[in-house]
Amino acid sequence: MPLDDAGCLCPPCLKGEIAALIKAAGLCAGCRHAQRLRSKGGGLLHLCGLSKTDARYKKYPRLPMSECPGYEPITAARP
Ligand code: SF4
Ligand SMILES: [Zn+2]
Repeated sequence: MPLDDAGCLCPPCLKGEIAALIKAAGLCAGCRHAQRLRSKGGGLLHLCGLSKTDARYKKYPRLPMSECPGYEPITAARP
């Protein structure tokens, strides 16, 4: 039986999962405005939080995102 896609949390598996995320979603994968949701089919959806207040952003951006003026890294300190 295949492992369920909630995934293993050991460092190598996490690292692989993050790399796969970034490959699939581009900037949105590391953006603090992105809300990551698991679809019913098991896929990962990225909901852009900026879409709530700014019509330039799509609720579900087309991925992978390669360039985005709203991108802010998750690690950036909050103002
Ligand atoms: S601001 Fe840009 S990079 Fe960040 S989640 Fe929205 S679309 Fe993705
Ligand atoms: Zn593992």
